[in-house]
Amino acid sequence: MSKTRQPATKTAPTAKRSKRAAQKGVEKARSAATDDAVWSDAEVKPFWEAKRLSQMTADEWDSLCDGCGQCCLNKIEEEDTGRIYLTRLSCSLLDIDSCRCKDYTNRFQRMPDCLSIDMKAVKKLKWLPESCAYRRLNEGRGLAWWHPLISGDPDTVHQAGVSVRDWARSEAGVPLDEIERYIIGEATS
Ligand code: SF4
Ligand code: SF4
Repeated sequence: MSKTRQPATKTAPTAKRSKRAAQKGVEKARSAATDDAVWSDAEVKPFWEAKRLSQMTADEWDSLCDGCGQCCLNKIEEEDTGRIYLTRLSCSLLDIDSCRCKDYTNRFQRMPDCLSIDMKAVKKLKWLPESCAYRRLNEGRGLAWWHPLISGDPDTVHQAGVSVRDWARSEAGVPLDEIERYIIGEATS
C-alpha cells in the first residue's frame, strides 16, 4: 500500500472558510443560533431544518460543525485503488482533549494540507464521517441528539463517543512509514 498522509480538516461553506474555521466560529455562531438565528422561518423551524446547506449563512454553517475532530485525522490513500483508510493519528495542531485546532487562525499557513469543509467538499469527500453534521444534512438525515445545536451542550459530542477525544493520538513524532500501524478502518462512502 502506498501512502499519502492527508491531514484532513474542515470547513467552510465557501471555499474560503475552512472546516476548522467552522470550529472557531462555532461557539459564536451557536450562541447566535440559539438565540434568534436558529429560528429562521415563519414555521419556527431551526435553520438546519428550514434551509438547505447551500442557503446557510456563514455563521449558520460554522455552527453546524459539532467539534468531533474526526476530519483532523490523517488518512492514507491507496494509490492503486483510490481507497482511503482512516487512522487514529491526528494533525499535530489538534488539541485532542478539546478536539479544537490549536491555531485556527493560522491553520492554513501552519498546515498547508488543512482542508476547508465547504459545500463542494461535503459533496466530494467520501471520508467525511457518517456522524458529520454536514454529511448528515446533505444526506437528509438531520442532526443527532448529541449535536450541540440539539442538546445545547458542546460536551454531548464527547459523551456520545462521537469525537476523537478518547482514542486519537497526535501524529507528532510518528514516522511516515509507520502510520499504517494506526489504521482504524476504511472510510465509508
Ligand atoms: S467531521 Fe466533525 S469536526 Fe469535521 S466538519 Fe464534520 S462535524 Fe465538524
Ligand atoms: S490545522 Fe490541523 S488541527 Fe487545525 S483545522 Fe487543520 S487539520 Fe485540523
